[in-house]
Amino acid sequence: MPRKSPRSRRKSGTPPSLPASPRVRSAPGQSRTRAAKTEHVLKGARPAAAAAAKKSAAKKKVAAKARRPVAAPARARKAPTPDPVRVAALLEQLREAYPDARCALDFRTPLQLLVATILSAQCTDERVNMTTPTLFAKYPDAAAFAAANPAELERMIHSTGFFRQKAKSILQACADIVARHGGEVPRTLEALTELRGVGRKTANVVLGNAYGIASGIVVDTHVTRLANRLGLTSEQDAVKIEFALMPLVPRESWTLFSHWLILHGRAVCNARKPRCSMCPLAPHCPRVGVTLSQ
Ligand code: SF4
Repeated sequence: MPRKSPRSRRKSGTPPSLPASPRVRSAPGQSRTRAAKTEHVLKGARPAAAAAAKKSAAKKKVAAKARRPVAAPARARKAPTPDPVRVAALLEQLREAYPDARCALDFRTPLQLLVATILSAQCTDERVNMTTPTLFAKYPDAAAFAAANPAELERMIHSTGFFRQKAKSILQACADIVARHGGEVPRTLEALTELRGVGRKTANVVLGNAYGIASGIVVDTHVTRLANRLGLTSEQDAVKIEFALMPLVPRESWTLFSHWLILHGRAVCNARKPRCSMCPLAPHCPRVGVTLSQ
């Protein structure tokens, strides 16, 4: 049977066949054999080789994606550089809003404040204030605390949580105070932080509130949150936040500044839904990271 030309096949009503694969030409610098191999893979003439090529391409794609820099999560607003005028305005508003700010823990001596501060970790100030009157009546000084029966002390502070660790910290710190400082709570940050169980935050609380010595700024969860929202720092580590805040706030206001932020954090700028619409700091607050407010 004679072969028909494509034109004559179309004329005679032969259904059109799928277009043939384009002929693979070798790229400049590529041999004809290599081009032919590629053609085989593309056509599926060698399924195993084609699958391997596909797998390798997918792997390369995943690796390239992993190498791509990951964008930081978008924040609601960008933190501005804290300029002195804005910080001064914030301090003025805070001073006006909380004229009676003071330490929320009840104490009469530096030692009592030290013990109360140790107890306040992961516990409310109200709960600590309910616990300390009996405690301070039973253990009037550092020597009495140092000689306390651990089980008895644990029982007395049980309601403040983490009672075993807290009892250990109190016993060790008081033993050090008796042994190295004649029973008196030391007056420097260095000496205080050398006591077992006493960290920088506790030392700053005692120095600022019991001795009136501005040694640093107390940074707790409220201070961390507000310092960030107010655009005063973008740090999350307590010590780094403290060192970022110290040059911004006048030294004589360091102790009060912590109280102001803690009170404001509890009353207005709470963690989940800050009350920005009624906040006196709103005109000076960039609300960094705030996505939901009332
Ligand atoms: S304006 Fe909003 S985010 Fe800023 S301090 Fe006030 S409550 Fe907090």
